[in-house]
Amino acid sequence: MDLFEQVEEIMGQGEICDSCLGQIFANRGHGLTNRERGRAWKTVLAMENEKIVEREVDCWVCLGESYRFREWADLAVAEVREIEFETYKIGTKMSPLLDENAKLLRELVGISVDSGEFLKTEMNREVGKIIGDRTGKSFQEDSPDIVILLDVSTRSVEIQVSPICIYGRYKKLIRGIPQTKWPCGECKGKGTNSEGVCERCGGSGKQYEESVQELIDSVAIGATEGESSTFHGAGREDIDAKMVGTGRPFVVEIKTPKKRSVDLQILEESMNEAATGKVEVELEGIVSRKMVAHIKELPASKTYEVGVKFEDVVEKKLLKKALEVLEGVEIEQETPTRVIHRRADKTRVRKVYSAKGELISPTGANLEIHGEKGLYIKELVSGDNGRTKPNLAELVGVEAVVETLDVISVVAEGGSFRVPEYMLRQKESKDMEK
Ligand SMILES: [Zn+2]
Ligand SMILES: [Zn+2]
Repeated sequence: MDLFEQVEEIMGQGEICDSCLGQIFANRGHGLTNRERGRAWKTVLAMENEKIVEREVDCWVCLGESYRFREWADLAVAEVREIEFETYKIGTKMSPLLDENAKLLRELVGISVDSGEFLKTEMNREVGKIIGDRTGKSFQEDSPDIVILLDVSTRSVEIQVSPICIYGRYKKLIRGIPQTKWPCGECKGKGTNSEGVCERCGGSGKQYEESVQELIDSVAIGATEGESSTFHGAGREDIDAKMVGTGRPFVVEIKTPKKRSVDLQILEESMNEAATGKVEVELEGIVSRKMVAHIKELPASKTYEVGVKFEDVVEKKLLKKALEVLEGVEIEQETPTRVIHRRADKTRVRKVYSAKGELISPTGANLEIHGEKGLYIKELVSGDNGRTKPNLAELVGVEAVVETLDVISVVAEGGSFRVPEYMLRQKESKDMEK
C-alpha cells in the first residue's frame, strides 16, 4: 500500500481530525506539527478528488482532545501562578478510551499499533510549548523545578513541585541534642495516648526538645514556604557528642517549596541567629537531589577528641605505648552492648588511622583519634567486656571509659564533600565573589 492509499484507508474509518491523522505520520516531514501533517494530506486528497476539505470534524479518535491544547495550557498557567519556578516538564495521563481509539485505528488499517506518535506525546509537547510562551519559563526534561500533570479523564491539572535541596556543613556546639527529630518512645510521636496527653513528652511527641534538624530546617521551611523537610547528614554523631572543627556535611530537603530563589547568605545568617550557641551552619549551595546519595555513599573518616577517665592511676609511659599499639591497627568490634537492641550483632573490622594524646591528671587523659568510618570510639576505649579488641583499657591494664566525645573533623575518603559542578544549582553568593 502506498502512502496515498494508506491515508484514504485511514480516512475511510470515520471522521478524523488533522492531528490524529498527522500523528500516524509523525516521523515524516521534519519541522511540521502533526496538525500540519494531517492538514497537508487532506489538502492533497481534496485536490486530487476535487472534494472540499472539512474544517470542523467530529474526530472519533481523540473526541476533540487535539483541539484543546490551549484550554489545557490555560488551566496549567492558572495552577502555577502562585509557584516560583524556572523549569518545568509536562506529563499527560491519557484517558484509556482515547488510547484504545488510537490503537484501534492502527489495527483497522493494518499498521503496527505503536506506529507514529500518540496524543500523549503530542500533548506533552504542544501544551508545553504554549505554557513556555505564556510564562517565559523553560522546558527541562531532567529534574525540572515542577512537573505539570494533565489528567485527561478528570480534565484536571496537578502540579508536582520538586523539593529544593540546600547543602552545607553544621557544627553542634553543645552536647545533648540529637541530629534529627526523635519521636517520643511512649506515644510514638503523637503527643497523646489512650489516657490523653502523653506524660513522658508532655504532648510534644518528642524525646528531645530540639534537634540539629529542627534548628536548621524551621528557618529553611519559612524562607521557602515549604510544607515539610527531610534532613540528610553525612553520618551522625552521638547525642552526647559535640560536632565541631570543620563541621559535618548535610543536605536539608524542603518539600513543595513555593519559593526557590532564596538568598543563601541571608538564610545562613538567619539559621545561625535562630540556633545561636547550639548549632552553627555554613551553607554551600542549592544542589540537585543527587547530592543526598553522594554524601551518604562517600565513606567518611572521622577525627575525635576524647576525654578518658581511668579507674586507677595510669603511667604516662604506659599510655604512650598503648597509643602506639593502637595507631594503624585494625580493630575487631562486635556490635556494642549499648546499641545491640537496635542493630544486628556482628563483628566489624575498622582501622585506627592515628591515636595521640596525653594524661591531663593521674587518672584522666585527652586523646585525639582518627578512625575509619564506623569505628566505635567508646568501645575502643572501654573494650566493652572484651567485645572490642584490641582496646585501650586492656593495653594499659586499667578500666577506662569515655567521659566526653567530640567529632572534630569529617573527611571523605577517596572522594570529596565538595559539590560536583553538575549537581550545583546555585552557589552561596560569597563564593561567587572570590
Ligand atoms: Zn482527533
Ligand atoms: Zn510522648
